[in-house]
Amino acid sequence: MDHLKKYISEINDFPKKGIVFKDLNPIYKEPKIWNELMLPLQKLISNKKPDYIAGIEARGFIAASALAFKLGLGFITIRKPNKLPGKVMGINYKLEYGEDRLEIQQNIIEKDSKVILLDDLLATGGTSGAAGNLIKKTGANLIGYAFLVELTELRGRENLDSNLFVESLIKY
Ligand code: AMP
Repeated sequence: MDHLKKYISEINDFPKKGIVFKDLNPIYKEPKIWNELMLPLQKLISNKKPDYIAGIEARGFIAASALAFKLGLGFITIRKPNKLPGKVMGINYKLEYGEDRLEIQQNIIEKDSKVILLDDLLATGGTSGAAGNLIKKTGANLIGYAFLVELTELRGRENLDSNLFVESLIKY
């Protein structure tokens, strides 16, 4: 998959100083390239036979919803605070500076149904770790995590449930 790195642009100091932002938009723009990237995930996820794919607002929705649709699976949204209607469950988690929060609709997933969390990028693992815990809090059965890109030096895997599978396609 490393040959696809040329389609990922790197933007220094975005969204804040010191971050080298990996921009996947050039991949999403090219159907053939996007398809090439998604194909292994498609195989992996269909082999695991989940009931749902969950995605995290907002960049996480792109690949997660596309793949759910392609595989004929339900798509679950995990959103920033106060975006979802009705009863929600939430989880607070630590960022480099301060705290953030994710929410999910309380009764959207049936208890024990199998869910895979798919996000665009694994950095410190704070976001996907929290999102995974939130899925578990609903009573669903989180079976694993998948990412398009992993920044391995940040060791985000250590913040994920080590009993579950963690797959990433492009590693830096
Ligand atoms: P983290 O909680 O540190 O694992 O950050 C993961 C989330 O932040 C992902 O949903 C990404 O969209 C975003 N993110 C973090 N670092 C980067 C980066 N260097 N380039 C692009 N997106 C990033």
